[in-house]
Amino acid sequence: MVIGLGIESTAHTFGASVVNDKGKILSNVNKMFTTEKEGMNPSDVAKHHRKYADEIIKKALDEAKIKETNLDFITFSQGPGLPPSLVVGKDKAKELANKLQIPLIGSNHICAHLEIGKLLTKTKDPVFVFVSGANTQIIAYESKRYRIFGETLDIGLGNAFDKFGRDIGLGFPAGPQIEKLAKNGNYIELPYIVKGMDLSFSGIITRADQLYKQGKNKDDLCYSLQETCFAMLTEVSERALAHCNKKEVILIGGVAANKRFCEMLDKMCKRRKAKFFPVPLKHCGDHAAMIAWQGMLQFKSDKNFLDLNEIDILPKWRIDEVEVTWIK
Ligand code: AMP
Ligand code: MG
Repeated sequence: MVIGLGIESTAHTFGASVVNDKGKILSNVNKMFTTEKEGMNPSDVAKHHRKYADEIIKKALDEAKIKETNLDFITFSQGPGLPPSLVVGKDKAKELANKLQIPLIGSNHICAHLEIGKLLTKTKDPVFVFVSGANTQIIAYESKRYRIFGETLDIGLGNAFDKFGRDIGLGFPAGPQIEKLAKNGNYIELPYIVKGMDLSFSGIITRADQLYKQGKNKDDLCYSLQETCFAMLTEVSERALAHCNKKEVILIGGVAANKRFCEMLDKMCKRRKAKFFPVPLKHCGDHAAMIAWQGMLQFKSDKNFLDLNEIDILPKWRIDEVEVTWIK
């Protein structure tokens, strides 16, 4: 049996996980940086990650009942992400791989979200609606690559929600608070911005901020923000589904925790005789098991390991640049 350790540290979460090649997650230990009021400052996040890294890695090995020496490889999130956070994961992974003299594999964080989503939903060839803090992309596999069919032209929807949350004093992360307040809201018109297959959120947030300053209530703004942004994403997802002629849609990323969003995508899929699969909640956001599993797929397929002396982070690594060697 092959056993690997994965390390996640692209943004707010530092995590470590052990998986085997049967797709079993033996441990998944994650610690998220949070704040009460303000947003997240990258250097504070990196400090947080450095402080807890060793403890988290040890806990992941202990919970999996695996000794370091039983590991066949180490994998880490090489990108995309915030450089100060990425560096912490890279340094720890490199240190361990060096010490144990085992291969080091760089995983693409977005790819990892998709692959763990497929593993957990048992889907074969879905359209991926990937909506996290920093990213918003509609992705599907076609001839050896994950292709991006539509994406945000400015900020990811999660960050857009977090920015609005910061502006109206909801703390970080704001998504769950926005979902709660939205339950009591009524619709106020906001800009609806879809350009071709791409989307834009920052203008919508600017408008929502203006309306807040003019005295509109938080509940109404949260409701309208959700309805508008989710409708935009549902529209683009529907077009991607039709274009690729696929029959499955999975929703991944932290924003997938939102029930209203799931409901809208589910309705759209039913109309098109496709199936909607939300990724189980605890696997929606960033965590280390997805990295470990992505590393496993690569370990088993390409054996193209990183040179320990040359390895670096790839903060802007796009998923369509990844050569998909593990899908036959
Ligand atoms: P990720 O980057 O994938 O870890 O996702 C984190 C993002 O998901 C943050 O921007 C959160 O505000 C957002 N988020 C978490 N829960 C919800 C929710 N229930 N509704 C909307 N957004 C959410
Ligand atoms: Mg993520």
